[in-house]
Amino acid sequence: MDTATLCPLTEGEILSAVAAQRDEAVRFLQLLVAEPSLLGQEQSAQALMKRRFEGLGLAVSELVIDEAALQGHPGYSPSIVSYDGRVNVIGVHEPRQVRGRSLILNGHIDVVPVGAERLWTRPPFEPWIAGDRLHGRGANDMKAGIVAYTMAFQALQRLGWQPAARVTLQSVIEEECTGNGALACLLAGHTADAAIIPEPFDELLSAQLGVMWLTLDVYGVPVHAAVAQTGIGAIEFAQHLVAELRQLEAKWNQPQHRHPMYCHHDHPINFNLGRIEGGEWSSSVSTHCRVDLRLGFYPGVTPAQVRAEVEALIREAHAAHPAQASVKVELSYHGFQAEGLVVDLQQPALQALMQAHHDITGRPGGHARRHRHHRRALLPPLRPDPVHLLRAARRQHPRRRRVGVDRFDAAGHRGAGAVHGALVRPGAAGPGRRLNPGT
Ligand SMILES: [Zn+2]
Repeated sequence: MDTATLCPLTEGEILSAVAAQRDEAVRFLQLLVAEPSLLGQEQSAQALMKRRFEGLGLAVSELVIDEAALQGHPGYSPSIVSYDGRVNVIGVHEPRQVRGRSLILNGHIDVVPVGAERLWTRPPFEPWIAGDRLHGRGANDMKAGIVAYTMAFQALQRLGWQPAARVTLQSVIEEECTGNGALACLLAGHTADAAIIPEPFDELLSAQLGVMWLTLDVYGVPVHAAVAQTGIGAIEFAQHLVAELRQLEAKWNQPQHRHPMYCHHDHPINFNLGRIEGGEWSSSVSTHCRVDLRLGFYPGVTPAQVRAEVEALIREAHAAHPAQASVKVELSYHGFQAEGLVVDLQQPALQALMQAHHDITGRPGGHARRHRHHRRALLPPLRPDPVHLLRAARRQHPRRRRVGVDRFDAAGHRGAGAVHGALVRPGAAGPGRRLNPGT
């Protein structure tokens, strides 16, 4: 390559530029957290991201999700909310001359439900700072990540330089329930040599469990409560089925049934009983009960295999029950049907990111604790297997709802370091790790 055209910036200068934006980044995060981007309510947050991307001079587009187009893809998950009026926001930087490797910076704008208001000390969408922590729903997972990569890109720009390859900034919907937002980006042709999803973890993660959402509908035998022993309560029968599923969960957690990546994990597989609705009132045996579960499963197991095993178990549990002839059980699947993944940390993009992580934090980037984790913050190069983007966008979400301002600052550094490292051409990967010049 033409080394005479290398950017003269050092990594230290780039990191300083990121640090200089700290207050601006915190304000941006506060604004973003204040937009309550719950499922189906992402519009105002996405409008904010659109303005931000436009402010960076990116080619910005709103990608409408065409569910019919996604349905034939193996990574598709059945939606739970209409896609009307809901978009991904995509900003693309295209250099006049491509000299490096392309990169996607992806983050999800959706946040998980706020849960019981009683447990909040302040309204979840009125972000506040206490000490070195910024609080609010979505602050940690993962609006801080979106702000970090946006500010990293801006820091390079303010230094007067740009990546010499295509960089795509994505703010997507539906990471917390289907992954269809990221899938739509992929199917719209947004691929790259690597992609980074700056989820809120302290290291890069090398494996990801599969995730499936499952709904059980149980219909019992209604009678008056005075003769409850002659009926079958749907709620009780649903409890019976959940207990059977717990047996399957325990089996998958047994050492001999584990994936090697999870051999040292204390409890890798979790079946979460996320929601239960049933019954009519206290004096009637319940006629109906709906149970929503989230099942984890190991990489290498397909959702179809999980469904087959679960359905066989439910069939057997139903058949073995003395009242089975009077009780109806229906299974359905809405939301995640996502396969797990093991990531090869030796890939150049991941090595570059781990080096950046180490440079900033002084700690290893991913090898040291890779077996302990089951969440993924990063994905490998996309072109050989475009499903990776989808997979990476699907993960369990932590319950944390705050982000340390200093940690967030470090995330911005890592983002800048990642851009710095990920875009450098092989010939420029020596001391100083120079950027290619902007165009
Ligand atoms: Zn997340």
